Amino acid sequence: MQDTALYEYLLGLKTPWKVARVELNVNEQHVDVWAEHPDGIVWGCPTCSRELTLYDHAEERVWRHLDSCQYKTFLHARIPRVQCPEHGVLQVLVPWAEPKSRFTLLFERLAIDVLRQCDVSGATRILRISWDEAWGLMERAVRRGQERKARKVVRRIGVDEKAAAKGHRYLTLICDLDKGTVEHVAEDRKQESLEEYYKGLTKKQLEGIEAVAMDMWEPYIQATAARVPDAAEKIVFDRFHVMGHIGKAVDTVRKQEHRELMKEHDETLKGSKYLWLYSRENLPEHKRDEFDALMRQELRVGRAWAIKEALRRLWHYVYPASGWKFWKKWYFWATHSRLEPIRKAAETLRRHIDNILTYYLHPVTNAMSEGLNSKIQKIKSMACGFRNTENFKTAIYFHCGGLDLYPC
Ligand SMILES: [Zn+2]
Repeated sequence: MQDTALYEYLLGLKTPWKVARVELNVNEQHVDVWAEHPDGIVWGCPTCSRELTLYDHAEERVWRHLDSCQYKTFLHARIPRVQCPEHGVLQVLVPWAEPKSRFTLLFERLAIDVLRQCDVSGATRILRISWDEAWGLMERAVRRGQERKARKVVRRIGVDEKAAAKGHRYLTLICDLDKGTVEHVAEDRKQESLEEYYKGLTKKQLEGIEAVAMDMWEPYIQATAARVPDAAEKIVFDRFHVMGHIGKAVDTVRKQEHRELMKEHDETLKGSKYLWLYSRENLPEHKRDEFDALMRQELRVGRAWAIKEALRRLWHYVYPASGWKFWKKWYFWATHSRLEPIRKAAETLRRHIDNILTYYLHPVTNAMSEGLNSKIQKIKSMACGFRNTENFKTAIYFHCGGLDLYPC
């Protein structure tokens, strides 16, 4: 077998393309392959497929292909141009690459596989491509996936904010809670951030939304109320965020009490911060005695903690009527506790209670996308080189978008 025939086979070249010449450069460790076509071929207009004769050739271009053993391999060709009466002078499509790509289809497929498995700098070393080339490949893959994505109804969505970088730049993430994919990433956490997602949906998609899990965050509430039909019945304030609010109040009680005790040189609460953040069953075995001893001292923080723990029962009810009854009892207890931070947190919950208890209709939480969260955390931690939020967004869509990334 001649080397030209071998490369025709390896490259999977289709007629009319043939390998004209192969050059091996041992010093630089690369193989160059030139593809050509015979005269008299009929080409299709890339836009309308109209059959046309050759007009001229574009300048020679180079595509990176899969390595031949350890040798980087490059395909060279001059792409024919046609003159379509309707679309003008255009380059025809070549079977080995997508328009404007500097890589062959097979190389792109491999690159996507590698990029999915490791971080960008690792992929650049394995594939021997540059940082910018790697990001270019990811962006193209994401764009391809998004163009192909069918307009389906996402029934249950979760809206969450993510700090994009130090210095409090936020992104808004909209997730499909059933599939565990990120549907949309928007800058900031304003009303417009979430509305940007809703605006991109069809009427049918908007009507198809059954539940939206979110934090009690006014801009998200406003955006959903403005765009989603019957939003009042569909917004579900995420229970973990709700518990987070009350947990913060417990911590405030602890801080105040600790400060007062320390004035009397009483170190009872010193170093106890994390103890109060646990729920009863998550308290580590070796901390139990210490915790029980504190609870016996009738501290204010102990009462605050007990009120917080009790609230968790709210999500155990099946019947809304029983849930409401429990809520009223709890609210009375919290607001008569003489613990100001707890009273304040209870007031916040009261203002939002209707959409906390929509949970009985739609038992959704943002924790359904917990797996997703840890994935995004990983993307962030390996993102030593996110030079901008654009790259962070691309990486989220690439790894969590559930998109079909491969070229055809
Ligand atoms: Zn045409």
